[in-house]
Amino acid sequence: SKEYTRACGVIPGGVNSPVRAFKSVGGDPVLIEKAKGSKITDIDGNTYIDYVASWGPMILGHAHETIVEAISKAAKKGTSYGAPTVQETQMAELICQMVPSVEMVRMVNSGTEATMSAIRLARAYTRKSKIVKFEGCYHGHADFFLIKAGSGAMTLGVPDSPGVTENIAKDTLSATYNDLESVNTLFKTQGNEIAAIIVEPVAGNMGVVLPRPGFLQGLREIADKNNCLLIFDEVITGFRLSIGGAQEYYNVMPDLTTLGKIIGGGLPVGAYGGKKEIMQMLAPAGPVYQAGTLSGNPLAMASGLAMLGILKNTPDFYTKLDKKAELFANGLAQNLKQAGIPGVINRVGSMLTMFFTESSKVETFDEVMTSNRERYAKYFRLCLDAGIYLAPSQFEASFVSAAHTDEDIEKTLKASLGAMKQL
Ligand code: PMP
Repeated sequence: SKEYTRACGVIPGGVNSPVRAFKSVGGDPVLIEKAKGSKITDIDGNTYIDYVASWGPMILGHAHETIVEAISKAAKKGTSYGAPTVQETQMAELICQMVPSVEMVRMVNSGTEATMSAIRLARAYTRKSKIVKFEGCYHGHADFFLIKAGSGAMTLGVPDSPGVTENIAKDTLSATYNDLESVNTLFKTQGNEIAAIIVEPVAGNMGVVLPRPGFLQGLREIADKNNCLLIFDEVITGFRLSIGGAQEYYNVMPDLTTLGKIIGGGLPVGAYGGKKEIMQMLAPAGPVYQAGTLSGNPLAMASGLAMLGILKNTPDFYTKLDKKAELFANGLAQNLKQAGIPGVINRVGSMLTMFFTESSKVETFDEVMTSNRERYAKYFRLCLDAGIYLAPSQFEASFVSAAHTDEDIEKTLKASLGAMKQL
């Protein structure tokens, strides 16, 4: 399109985050003009039912009135002070109440900041330097995470980015998601050098892959045995699987938790928190440095407080959302059957991925990789033409929001079946 070409002249690849560019599904990305509720509208006036949800944050749908109002009210009082506010304390108190393992929390501006700061803290606390991450899990773009990192990197086929030095890469050990033996193997030889295990408790960046029963508990035990911290990256799962995130949903408590997306109600916010004893090591209470000019920004706090307030005070919010997502997933399964297309649907709560694969289940990275990406690309484009906005990659989640109506889901399923019949 003309506007995308124009963007490519002044923005690398025309986008400010790679996966937006439709590289793995083909064609030019649509540029967005506005969004409201479950719908998103492009600059040519086409409206789509949106399942990207800004990659997770919009669990109430777009431009929710309470949140918009909170942001505009805050904006009139000034957009940044660089000095503390009561709203930051309120936000921290709310997070500590909602997320079971978090006793103290630090606000930052993105998920990437949260995860990279949590690792620094874990290294300082344990006085060890290596970390274990899982192939296909994404934890933001800090150098030491860009090792078998899923999502955008996986889609583009550059698991290791140029610019990440070998020296940095050697401190990141890679294990296999849902395979405790692969973790044990690393600990057998390097256990006394490992500061932290970081994991997406439900993988969302290789498509949705659920933890096998006992996997998260097993990680907890390995961490305990080896004097190493367990970090749950709940940037996607936080406030999505339940009010207390995946740790509450699966009842496994990490030492540190990283948060993002929903926590900011669509504004650029992240957070990391955990045990007081560990968090107290952060400056200025302790020696571990981490800072941010815009951290705890008043607009972001207003938006986040409004968002978390609604989630906390809406009875049955997660039960209702789960039902809606179940309806959607069941419909997709039926569509696959009816169209005679092999596939697997992984869902937990309101996040799901339909893998176009002949495998009977998708529980590991290798099984993820059996997916037919060309088929997904074609499906994606057919759905887009039919007014359904899905993630432009097979290796992402679809997010169902409270704003999706039964009618939206019905319309989506009809379009999906139409698309499947043309695959
Ligand atoms: N962790 C996880 C699990 C994520 O999904 C993401 C973003 N998709 C990040 C960290 C990084 O967050 P951000 O894009 O806000 O830096």
